Amino acid sequence: MDEEAAQVVKRIFNLCMEVRGSKQIAQVLKEEKILAPNAYRRKEGLNVPGMESADQYGWNPTVVANILERREYTGCTVNFKTYTNSIWDKKKRDNPEENWAIFEGTHPAIIEPEVWEKVQEIRRQRHRRTRTGKSSMFSGLIYCADCGAKMYYCTSNKYEKRQDHFVCSRYRDTAGSCTIHYIRAVVLEQMVWMHMEAVIAYVSRHEAYFRKQMEQRLPLQSQETIRMHRKKLAQDEKRIAELDRLFIRIYEDNVAGRVSDERFAMMSRNYEDEQEQLKAEVQTLQQEIEVQERQIQDLEQFIKRVRKYADLRELTPYALRELVKAIYIGAPDKSSGKRRQEIRIEYDLVGYIPLDKLMEQEKQETA
Ligand SMILES: [Zn+2]
Repeated sequence: MDEEAAQVVKRIFNLCMEVRGSKQIAQVLKEEKILAPNAYRRKEGLNVPGMESADQYGWNPTVVANILERREYTGCTVNFKTYTNSIWDKKKRDNPEENWAIFEGTHPAIIEPEVWEKVQEIRRQRHRRTRTGKSSMFSGLIYCADCGAKMYYCTSNKYEKRQDHFVCSRYRDTAGSCTIHYIRAVVLEQMVWMHMEAVIAYVSRHEAYFRKQMEQRLPLQSQETIRMHRKKLAQDEKRIAELDRLFIRIYEDNVAGRVSDERFAMMSRNYEDEQEQLKAEVQTLQQEIEVQERQIQDLEQFIKRVRKYADLRELTPYALRELVKAIYIGAPDKSSGKRRQEIRIEYDLVGYIPLDKLMEQEKQETA
């Protein structure tokens, strides 16, 4: 793929990261006068079947959606996406994803794998369009802290933008099943940005300390523990192989009459029991190591993403999607006479970040 086409693909993925649907993306591409795939191929002198379309910049939303779903842009090759039943039935059928063969790193990547995954996630969220056609960068990320349901974005052309708000979908659907707690979009944006800004600043100041603190609360074990697990795993595997050999030996001894049938039965049962236990242990160890390594990778990935935003001065949809997984909104508390509302941010890859605690410790240490 040439550089020009690669740039268009990147642009499409970026627009999706800003939570725009394929229809909106098609519109933007048209406005930016980006040639649609067939027009582009013609310009490059490639053979394109069919009539030349009147509108060179007319992007079909389905084409945009297909581009967003292509895993190949991450640099891998995907085989067996479709199959045919027999040589007589030439109709191509979709093969379920678990039957695909994916070969990674077979050609240069245009899209980072994490961005590709994010885009699939955004597309799965199926954003509810508001009647006005307006959408919020927070759409699909906001949940009610009390009932766990999604909160819907409500906007109207009649009111000012500052009246736009999110409301628990349970409250709206079946009145009464959840209490009314809405949050205005501007307030939400302020609160989320304040938290994100503080997290970004904190990680930039104390990267090593942040890593250590998160490792402690993620039930994350240190590299040292993982090394111990690995060592135990190797020992277990060695012993399993040894038991196999021992079993063959007593079997041969038994056949040759050197070991009685009774003794053979007892010994082989012992070996089998031990081996079974070891196999179960090996499986647990392997899973544990895998989970731990993933968490360490995720934490590093998160720190890497945060670093990228060290100079961010205002919240962008892209930064929001890259760093935040979900936001939980609590019910407003008016007991103090003022409206107070708790929000809880689940960051991508690492979850909840105890910012207050971290900052408190920082104060104590510098005091
Ligand atoms: Zn609710």
